[in-house]
Amino acid sequence: MTSFEADYSKACVQPSPNHGVRADGRKPDMIILHYTGMPTPESALDWLCREESEVSCHYFVHENGDVVQLVAEARRAWHAGKGSWHGEGDINSRSIGIEIANAGHPGGLPDFPKKQIAAVIELCRDCGKRWSIAPERVLAHSDVAPIRKVDPGEKFPWAELHHAGVGHWVDPAPITGGRFFQRGDCGQPVEALQSMLSLYGYATEITGEFSERTAGDVEAFQRHFRQERVDGIADFSTIDTLHRLLSALPRYS
Ligand SMILES: [Zn+2]
Repeated sequence: MTSFEADYSKACVQPSPNHGVRADGRKPDMIILHYTGMPTPESALDWLCREESEVSCHYFVHENGDVVQLVAEARRAWHAGKGSWHGEGDINSRSIGIEIANAGHPGGLPDFPKKQIAAVIELCRDCGKRWSIAPERVLAHSDVAPIRKVDPGEKFPWAELHHAGVGHWVDPAPITGGRFFQRGDCGQPVEALQSMLSLYGYATEITGEFSERTAGDVEAFQRHFRQERVDGIADFSTIDTLHRLLSALPRYS
């Protein structure tokens, strides 16, 4: 298999055959974080390097912080599958994919070791600088593929990443009582919620009806930005957190 030179100086190269050309000569402008969701890191890494799996990623981060590069950054790795963000469907053509070794929901959602998170932060900063990736475009797989994907999960420490200069974040509003919206609700407030999710980047349909899909998008949002309760119900804390996140977005001229 053809090897290549690591783009990240601290990475060891273990090439995967699963990659292609980025569509329309695109440069990566997003980072997508995943967990492997497999019992052992070895089995996950082995799978990502097998031709028959037809999956790969650019980087693999071990629990001890060791980083392996499987696909050159200039190439299109096959990690995101079907998804969408800001109306763009071919996530693989515009992203760097990072797999983080973690057994995930099937394995009881174990904590991410400190060394591993430190390595993810350093890697994201390095890629982010190299490709000028905006903080709000460092996302979870679950953000771009709600319902279908739940990784890297609600225990992933996004706040910690943000404090180290990676990703977009505001402190979530505390969970209190008050009005909320859920499956089956209809009307203008539901439409406003859908508009906000869509404005942030989610592929939410603006229909005014709180559908199963809307609940899935709310759940994906909570998994990233309001991790204390992931239930697909748009309570005041969820809506307020989303509102403040939107306000905190840099304005593009
Ligand atoms: Zn994933």
